[in-house]
Amino acid sequence: MTTVGILGGGQLARMLALSGAPLGLRFLVMDTQPDACAGQFAPLLVGDYRDEAALAEFASKIDVATFDFENVPAESAKWLSERVPVFPNPRALGLIQDRLAEKTLFRDTGIPVPAFADVTSREGLDAAIAQVGMPCILKTRRLGYDGKGQFRIRPGTGEATADAAWAALGAQAQTVGLILEAFVPFERELSVVAVRGRDGEFRTWPLTENWHVDGVLSASLAPARVDDALAATAFDYARRLAGELDYVGVFALELFQHGGDLLANELAPRVHNSGHWSHEGAETSQFQNHLRAVLGRPLGATTMRGHACMLNWIGELPDPDPVLRAAGAHWHDYGKSSRPGRKVGHATVRTDSVTGLAQVLERVGAELGRDAQVAPVIARLREG
Ligand code: ATP
Ligand code: MG
Ligand code: MG
Repeated sequence: MTTVGILGGGQLARMLALSGAPLGLRFLVMDTQPDACAGQFAPLLVGDYRDEAALAEFASKIDVATFDFENVPAESAKWLSERVPVFPNPRALGLIQDRLAEKTLFRDTGIPVPAFADVTSREGLDAAIAQVGMPCILKTRRLGYDGKGQFRIRPGTGEATADAAWAALGAQAQTVGLILEAFVPFERELSVVAVRGRDGEFRTWPLTENWHVDGVLSASLAPARVDDALAATAFDYARRLAGELDYVGVFALELFQHGGDLLANELAPRVHNSGHWSHEGAETSQFQNHLRAVLGRPLGATTMRGHACMLNWIGELPDPDPVLRAAGAHWHDYGKSSRPGRKVGHATVRTDSVTGLAQVLERVGAELGRDAQVAPVIARLREG
C-alpha cells in the first residue's frame, strides 16, 4: 500500500486524492486548517509547515511527498526531502517561489520574458520604471497568487501612479521583495500543462487558452485555437524548463501571446487550474499523471478527447442543475464555503465538435446567468 503525502489541503489535493483512488493509493494531507477541503476525502494532519514535529509525523506516515500549493516554506520541503522522496524537488520549488529568480531562469534558458527589474526602494521603483517602461505592473516577488500582491501603473495622471503603487506594496519590499514587470498588451493568455516522469519522459496536454477576470482564472479552452508552430514553441519552452529544473510531476507554464511571440509569465509547480479540463477532456488527467510521475509509474496518454472548456466558479457556486442537465457538461464542487474571490468549484464542458462546444456553452451560460463568462470563449470558437 503506497501513501502519497500532500502538503496543502485545498481543491488540488482533493482532486489528486480522488484521481488516485483507482490506482489503489492512500493519501495523507497536511494543512494548517482543520476544515481544508481535501480532508473530506483523505486523512488530514493539521499542523504548521514549519513545525518539525508535525513534519516528522507527516514524513513517518508517507512514501512520497508532493504539493498542492507552491508557497510551502522551501526549508520545510528540503527538510522533508532528507527523509522521504519529494517531487517536484525543493530546488525547483524554491526557485519558482521567487518571481525574480523565476524570470531570470526563463531568460537564461532562452525563453522570452516581459522586461523586468528588481525593486528595493521608492527611488528604485522610479529607476525600474525608466528601465522597463510604461505601463507596468509592480508585483510581490513571493507569496502572490490569483493576482494578489500586484499593482498596475499606467502613464498620465490618475490613481495608477508610482506613488500609489508604492503606497500599496512598498512595505513589502523588505519582506517578500518586489519586482516590476512591463505590462504586455497580449492578444491571448496560453498555458502549457506538462508532466515529466522520474525517468525524464516528458508529455504535454494540448495548449490551453485562458481568460482571467481581476487576475483570477475565469475560463480555459483546449485545445487553444492557435497554429501548430506556436504550440510547438510553447511545448519546447516547457520541455527546456522541465529539464533545467530536473522537474518531476505536473506543472503549468503561463504564456502571453503578443504578435507572433510568446512571453513567459510564470511557472506553477503543481497541477494547475488551467489543466482541470483534462479530467474529462483528456485520455489521462493532469491529476492522475502527476501521481504516476511522482511514483515513477508509466505516464498516461495526454491526448485530447474532442474539445473542452472549463468555467471557474469564484466566490459562490451557481445552480448545478443546468450543468448536470447538459450533455457533455461536468460539475465539480470543492466542498468549500462561499467567500468573495475564493475558488469554490468549476464545470467542464466536453464535446466532439467545436460547434457543439459553442452551443452547449451558450445554453449553459444563459441558464446560469453567466453569459459574460462564456462570451469570450464562444467568440473564439466562432472565429473559424
Ligand atoms: P496565479 O498564480 O493565480 O496564476 P499570480 O498571482 O501568480 O496568479 P500572475 O499570473 O503573475 O499572478 O498574474 C495574474 C494575471 O494578471 C495574469 O494571468 C494576467 O492576466 C495579468 N498579468 C500579470 N502580469 C502581467 C503582465 N506583465 N502583462 C499583462 N498582464 C499581466
Ligand atoms: Mg502565480
Ligand atoms: Mg499566473
